[in-house]
Amino acid sequence: MEIIDNIKVEISPTQVLKRLHMDQDDKYLQDVEKLLELALPVLCPKAIFDIKYIDSRSDDSVTISGVEFSSRILRVNLDKVERTFPYIATCGIEVEKLDIPADELMLHFMLDTIKQMALGEAMRHLRQQIDEKYRPGKMSAMNPGSLEDWPISEQHKLFSLFGDVEKLIGVKLTDSCLMMPIKSVSGLYFQTETDYVNCQLCPREKCPGRRAPYNPELKEEYLK
Ligand code: SF4
Repeated sequence: MEIIDNIKVEISPTQVLKRLHMDQDDKYLQDVEKLLELALPVLCPKAIFDIKYIDSRSDDSVTISGVEFSSRILRVNLDKVERTFPYIATCGIEVEKLDIPADELMLHFMLDTIKQMALGEAMRHLRQQIDEKYRPGKMSAMNPGSLEDWPISEQHKLFSLFGDVEKLIGVKLTDSCLMMPIKSVSGLYFQTETDYVNCQLCPREKCPGRRAPYNPELKEEYLK
């Protein structure tokens, strides 16, 4: 198991404003500068990953390192591989302690963007370390809760592959299996020759995070 917790975060006001689609001379520039002064010293994104081997497969499930995951699509995606890389990445619990007044909605919105950027850095380091250590080549990922076929309730199983995740990197699960801090992601990376993206099998309309068009025929292929 690898823990990545020494990630240096460098985020400029310009980068934040660009992410928010605001002009550089926007009236919010000073707010972003002040927010970064507060946030950067406490931002501490982290990630954890491991290499885990597949024990067995059934029609609709796959058992990884003694844990049975129930998902037909995950099982199909893992048909041709023997190892996976479970991971969890987070913006870090430390920045959650910043005391921004509840009615400062724009500041909260900006802070969310800064946390998202820190999470992006954690993911970049995570991917880099997997690549350097295991040289897997092309990979895709699946995440519990991103598709109906692999419900969010399976989050507990993913966390169980690591043990006490809260103690390791500060991420905990709520009763409804949401991760805290909210700006956290979890999933399984796997080697693949295809360009698999969850969004291809997700019919959700008007999703701002969509990375590929919905492909109902492909979904049928997976589920048949
Ligand atoms: S379309 Fe949106 S909700 Fe669906 S998998 Fe992609 S990012 Fe997630």
